[in-house]
Parts: sequence; structure tokens; C-alpha cells
Amino acid sequence: MKIIIKPGREKSLLRRHPWVFASAIQPVDKEPASGSTVALIAPNGSFLARASYSPTSQIRARVWTFNDEPVDKEFFRKRIKTAIETRQKLKVESHSDSYRLIHGESDGLSGFVVDQYKDTFVLQSTTAGSEYWKDTVADLLVEETGIQNIYERSDVDVRELEGLKPITGILRGTIPNSQFPISEYDLKFNINIATGHKTGFYLDQRENRHRVGELAKDRDVLNCFCYTGGFSIHALANGAKSVLSVDSSGDALALLEENIALNRLPAERHTSREGDVFQLLRKFRDENRSFDMIILDPPKFAPTAAHAEKASRAYKDINLLAFKLLRHGGILATFSCSGGVDAALFQKIVASAALDAGIDAAISEYMSQGSDHPVSLHFPEGAYLKGLICVKG
Ligand code: SAH
Repeated sequence: MKIIIKPGREKSLLRRHPWVFASAIQPVDKEPASGSTVALIAPNGSFLARASYSPTSQIRARVWTFNDEPVDKEFFRKRIKTAIETRQKLKVESHSDSYRLIHGESDGLSGFVVDQYKDTFVLQSTTAGSEYWKDTVADLLVEETGIQNIYERSDVDVRELEGLKPITGILRGTIPNSQFPISEYDLKFNINIATGHKTGFYLDQRENRHRVGELAKDRDVLNCFCYTGGFSIHALANGAKSVLSVDSSGDALALLEENIALNRLPAERHTSREGDVFQLLRKFRDENRSFDMIILDPPKFAPTAAHAEKASRAYKDINLLAFKLLRHGGILATFSCSGGVDAALFQKIVASAALDAGIDAAISEYMSQGSDHPVSLHFPEGAYLKGLICVKG
């Protein structure tokens, strides 16, 4: 089936951006089936790309390939093999047994996320196109890697825009326990692929946890939005004097406590606190508490640019409070995983937080998502995680 692009709207496709909005295509006589493959044709009749069709989404088509080639099982095999080879080149396995194997558009597999946790894959399908090819991709993952077990975590809100219901459960193989330990550098983390956030763990912060941990020695650390303790465990393992971990999720904190035991870390140096970071930072300010290192790794405040203003206020609020709570020479490791806030804006927000806090600070390091979450040059939206390490004067 062919879809004709409106005059002028083929430009982004010529720049290899993989999304086609509903407003960019000529009306169709007969609507293609949800997820089926269509050929995108320029107004002058030339071939542009093959894409999956999403009848209900504003992103009406997502490109599989810019080449005039069949989109079939062998096509997906090539894509998966390339993704595997790319991860091998990155040497992620030298310091972790768990990493992202497929990162959506950046691996030419729009709608698919596949995280490998030891010998189990967790697959997330978010679009009509990925849903259409899900079983094929699951079969190929088994064929190409020999790994038998795949758990599905297609329980994200964006599926609704594609007319898809949430789906979770075993997709291939047998998974007797959804909770098991993985390793990151020399540390162990219990994860739960059925109930954990995202696919079970925030793999994108692996390198940043390691680096921030290295800087934590002899410091009193406050880890805000700690989840299952990623930064806290690295900090304790590196000789932090004390670590206070805050999260609103009791389940996450329970796993954090397990992770401390799993790594035989000094539990007496650690405190878990269930609560709201926004309120707690204010309380600590009123109590004149102070720390040598503060980590801010909040959830996505701005999924898209439309939420950027409100999100900016939230980022400024927590960064301002954190700067106030930091001792001189203290380190702030501050992150944003909002697609709607780019790195330049994030830096401006942090700068204005320092200004309003009345303090001087310098950026000593820029951080981003791990290399197993690559960013296609033609799909800058794939770069979502940004972080700054700031040293207070
Ligand atoms: N740093 C973590 C990932 C953090 S994810 C790691 O490396 O693994 C964000 C966390 O923020 C989630 O665990 C979520 O439960 C928590 N959260 C969201 N809103 C919160 C709030 N207002 N106060 C405290 N925690 C919050």
C-alpha cells in the first residue's frame, strides 16, 4: 500500500527523520491495517521509505527503512544482528551483565525496547508497528542469541495513543522468578522485571552511578529519587560517610535495603526515607541540615516540549533547595530524563537555581545516557538523559 506525502512535507524524511505526522500525508482511499507496512511516496512519485502505519496516532507512520527493500523477517534479523554487534563493540559486557540491546529508533526499530537482564530479555512494544512484528522479533531474539526467556512489559501509557491496551507477561520461555540479581561494575542489584519501573531497572544511569559513586568517598550523601538505591549502593561501596536515600515508593526502598545486604555494605551508614522529595528538601532547609553530596534523579517532568515550562519550575525548585543544602565544596549530581527539556535548557535552569540560591558553582562534568542507549544522528529525540556534576564554591 502507498501513502503519498504532501508537497514540502517530505523534507524531514529526506533528512532521515523516521516520523511522519498525520498532517503530512494525503488522504487515503482505504486505510491500511494497524501496524501494516506502507510505502511512503514523495509528491513527485519517488520512493522515500517503508514504514509502519498507525491509524489512531498523530505520528501516523514510522519508518522501518529508507531503502527500497522488503520489510520481512529477514529485514528484522539484520536489524537485530546489527544491534547485537553494536553492543559487542561498546564492551558494555565488560562491566555489566545487563544492558539495553534495542533502543527504538536509534537501532532502526521504532517502537521496540529490549533490555537484557542476564539471560532474560524484557521487551517493550509501544507502537502499532512494533505490535505487528512483535512475535517475529521475539522469535528472532531467541534465534540470534540463544536466550530463551522473554518477558513483556508493554505497560506504558503511550500505547493508548496507538489504540493498544497494556500487555505484560511471559512472551517466550519460562521465568520462574521475576526477581533476581544482576551485576553492575562489581556490585549486585536485585531487580524485578514484572513489577519494577520501566523494564525493571534504570540501565541508562549505569556509568553515571559508577562515576558519582567514585566521588562519594568520605561524604555525607543525600540521594533524592533513589529508586532501588542505584547511586546509594555505589556511594556506600566507595566509602561514603553516610547515605540518606529518599523515594516515594516503599517497594523501591524495600529492594534498596535488600541491595545493601546483597553487597554486604555497612547498613549503619545508610538511612532510607519514604517521602516526597519536594517537601523533604524544604524540611531539611528549615532544619538547617547540610550534606557534602546531593543527587537529584527525578522522574520525567516533561515528556514533551509542551510540558517544558512547568517542568522547568520543578527542576529549578529542587536544584535551588539542593544548592542551599550543600556544604562548601559539596557536589551536586543533577539529572533530567525529560525529552521536553534539552541539555542547554537544563543547564540554564540549574544556573538560575544557583543564582537564586545565592551561591557560586561550577560544572565539572557533563553526563548523558549510557552508550547502550545510542542516539541516531537523525533522531535527536533519542537523547533524553542529561546530567551535570556541579561543585559548590
Ligand atoms: N536514581 C535511580 C532512578 C530514579 S527514578 C536509579 O539510579 O536507579 C525516579 C524515582 O523517583 C522513582 O523511584 C520514583 O518512585 C521516585 N519519585 C517520583 N516522584 C517522587 C517524589 N515526588 N518524591 C520522591 N520520590 C519520587
